[in-house]
Amino acid sequence: MPKITISVFRAEVGGFLGLSRTHPKLIEKAQKLLKEEKGRLLIDSFVTHCGDDLELIMTHSHGTDNKRIHRFAGDVFAACARIASEIKLYGAGRDSQTPGSADRGPCVAELEFEERESDPVLIFIADKTGPGAWNFILYKIFADPFNTAGLVSDPSLHQGFDFEVHDMAAKSRIIFRCPEESYRLLAHISDPSRSVIRRVFRKDGEITAVTSSRCFDINAGANDNGDDDPVMIVRAQDGFPLVGEALEPFCTPVLVGGGMRGFPYGPLMPVGLSDVSSTRSDGPARALCFGFQVTGGELIGPADMFDDPAFDRARARCNELADAIRVQGPFAPRRLPREVKGHAPRHTVKEGPAPGREKLPE
Ligand code: MG
Repeated sequence: MPKITISVFRAEVGGFLGLSRTHPKLIEKAQKLLKEEKGRLLIDSFVTHCGDDLELIMTHSHGTDNKRIHRFAGDVFAACARIASEIKLYGAGRDSQTPGSADRGPCVAELEFEERESDPVLIFIADKTGPGAWNFILYKIFADPFNTAGLVSDPSLHQGFDFEVHDMAAKSRIIFRCPEESYRLLAHISDPSRSVIRRVFRKDGEITAVTSSRCFDINAGANDNGDDDPVMIVRAQDGFPLVGEALEPFCTPVLVGGGMRGFPYGPLMPVGLSDVSSTRSDGPARALCFGFQVTGGELIGPADMFDDPAFDRARARCNELADAIRVQGPFAPRRLPREVKGHAPRHTVKEGPAPGREKLPE
C-alpha cells in the first residue's frame, strides 16, 4: 500500500476587516489553483480559513518536506497575496513569499502514513494564539487517562506515547517517553512560550500527531522558530485515541497567549466554521477542527467537529473568562511577559534614556 502524505499549510496573506476574517476572493483563488493540480501534483485538496488565516490542506504521494509541494503552496499564497494587495486587505502578503513582502514564511504540518482499513484524520486550526497552544491539548489526549480512558482500557494504548518537544530558545529537541516521563514532559511543555510539542509517536514509531511549530522558508529551508496561529494533524481510532477523546480537551477553557496588539492571555474557544471570524478585541482565540476520512488519499469530508451543542458550555465559559481578562486592560497578567518572543507589547516602557526618565540614587 503506497504511503499518503497530508500537508496543511497556513498563512496570513491579508486580513479582511483588520485581523478578523478572510476575504472570499482569497479562498476562491486558492481553491481554483489547488483543484488544477488534482490528479497531477496532488491527490486531493481542501481550502479553508480561520480568522484572518488561509489554510491549504493537501494529500499527495511525495512525502514530507517535499520542495515541489512547498513551493506550490508558496506560489498559491503569493497569488492570494497579490489579490489581497489589490483590494488593500490588512497586512497583505505578510506570510507569503512575494519578493520584499515577507519577514517569515507560511507554517506547515505534515504527516506521512500508510492508510489503515479506516483512517479518520482530524485537522485542528487555531487563530490569535502562539505555537505552543496545542501543548495542553496534546498532553490531555495522549498522556492523561482521565481524558483518554483508552490509555487504561485499550490494550493497544497501554504502552503510552512518546512526545517530541522543541525548545525554541535553545534550538534543541528532546523526546519524552510517556507515561514514564510524564512529569518531566510537563515541566517543559508547561511553558508553551518556549517549548512546543512537535510530534507524538506510538511506541512502534508510528506518528499519530504533528503540529506546525516548524515554519518553512522556501529560500532558506526549514527552521524551528515556530509561528503564530498553529495547525495540527491528529490520527484517531484503532490504535490511537478515539475521535471523541481527541476533542474532549477543548471542553476546558485553557488559557493561551497571543491576542491582539501582542498583549494578552485568553481562552482558546472551540468553534464551528461559521464562528471562526473574531470581531471582538482579543477574540477569544479560536480553534476549528475539520475531520476527514482519508480513503485512497481522497479527503472524504470535511466534518465540522466543533459544530456540536456539546461544546456550548465550553464556549460560554470561554466568553466569561475572556470578559474577566479583558477588563484588566494593559495590566499583567492579561499582558504577556515582555520576554515572550513576538508578543512583547509594543508600547511598554523602554530601557535606557527616555524623555522624563530620571535616575534614582543608589
Ligand atoms: Mg491569524
